[in-house]
Amino acid sequence: MKITVAKGDGIGPEVMDAVLDIFVAAKVPLDYDLVAMGKQVALAGDVTGISPEARRSVESTGILFKGPMETPKGGGYKSVNVTARKLWGTFANKRVFRTLPDVPTAVRARNLHLTMVRENIEDTYGAVEHMQTHDVAQCRRFITRPGSEQVHRYTFEMAARKGARRVTCAHKANIMKLTDGLFLEAFYDVAKDYPQIQADDVIVDALAMRLVLAPEDFDVVVLPNLQGDILTDLAAGLVGGLAYAPSANIGDGICIFEAVHGTAPDIVGQDLANPTALLLSGTMMLRHLGLVEHAATIEGALDVTLRALHRRPDLAQPIPPLRTGRFVDTMVEALRGSRPPAPQAVERPFVPRREPVMRVTEPVPTTALVGVDVFLESSLAPAPLAEQLKALGGPLALTMISNRGTQVWPTGSPHTDCINHYRVRFEAPREVPQQALTELLARAAAAFPLCGAEWLRVIGGRRAYSLAQGQADAAA
Ligand code: NAD
Repeated sequence: MKITVAKGDGIGPEVMDAVLDIFVAAKVPLDYDLVAMGKQVALAGDVTGISPEARRSVESTGILFKGPMETPKGGGYKSVNVTARKLWGTFANKRVFRTLPDVPTAVRARNLHLTMVRENIEDTYGAVEHMQTHDVAQCRRFITRPGSEQVHRYTFEMAARKGARRVTCAHKANIMKLTDGLFLEAFYDVAKDYPQIQADDVIVDALAMRLVLAPEDFDVVVLPNLQGDILTDLAAGLVGGLAYAPSANIGDGICIFEAVHGTAPDIVGQDLANPTALLLSGTMMLRHLGLVEHAATIEGALDVTLRALHRRPDLAQPIPPLRTGRFVDTMVEALRGSRPPAPQAVERPFVPRREPVMRVTEPVPTTALVGVDVFLESSLAPAPLAEQLKALGGPLALTMISNRGTQVWPTGSPHTDCINHYRVRFEAPREVPQQALTELLARAAAAFPLCGAEWLRVIGGRRAYSLAQGQADAAA
């Protein structure tokens, strides 16, 4: 079996070399296609940071085992890690948090074995961003029904396989009723197919607190992308830090295995890089490939190694920092004499694809256009702005103006500070053709600098747009 390996940037080559040495000692029957990905490829002019050879290799082996890759902050090329996850459709990011023997943790020692699945493609991680005015930046957040169903189904399937009794969906659907609301709705729709597993949900801020107070209350947790990013780092803190947190990026075809941590620029080349997280990502990969016994043998040796490395001759002394070289030597020693297990069948054979798959959920309910939210730049106060806008609506009535999401017209408070960027809502009492909306936009564009527009829809008889903070629900 051949897999693709990219060592990455910073401590990437140090931890990857360590893990591959350990795989040799454990007689793992894999061949490695070493490819270039990361900072050097991006700086050489390929903004994806993925060389053509890397792309060809991953799309033929179906498995990428990678070290961390550097992302410049604020500007520069986009994250190679995120590009790889999205490009190759790895919709679920599975992270396992297990208390490891003698690894020091900030919270009191406990026996934690928590699995978190983070949606891996959508959410604000699309990074679809625009400056709407000099003062206003916007990031569009896409949550889709097919994308949510895919990650939820993977989570329930995985939970069923590992015999989990409970799956919890974390979200912020109390505030973002449509986006997080869709993620949650899809969760309970999928849960109906797994009656043997208890399905419940938790608001993400409460989850943050409960993970610190009583993490053992949770078994499997599934979250949207950004919330998952933050909460999985919190969970890493519970088991000793990023150096102990592995991850698997799961797709229908290609899968990517990597540690949760980054390139650790502060410790590069000092023999201080801890390979545990990448090693555990590697054992997740071995299990995925059916090499279950190899994975178990390595994890057994890891327990022995961590005990040995964290042993203190004198309890008053602090634990010495973990050295990469000593870690590998201890692992190799622990693996010495272990018998090579027989390889087992590959769980999911990989079939290379020729075309992207279009995902649409059926049946599609009826959709009616009933208005438009226009985003425009103006330094007028809300009342005079409304006077100018009323004439522009034609068959649509001006029903609401909001600023930063808070209604400022027809009612509002003088204590609501405004930015010179408004959302103005025009609504019709019944369905209107799209042309009525584009004509309204043309009239508005003649009077104001426009920043964008969103159609207002009723889908399946339900209003498919949010109310402004403070706006009365006319349908209620
Ligand atoms: P980081 O994870 O690289 O480092 C955070 C802290 O943890 C540092 O003090 C570091 O020394 C320590 N640390 C991390 N891994 C360790 C290990 N294996 N052994 C010992 N100590 C370890 O996070 P950062 O500093 O915020 O990011 C550095 C770079 O890595 C950035 O360019 C970032 O974009 C990138 N990054 C990449 C990935 C990825 O490849 N998937 C993930 C996170 C960050």
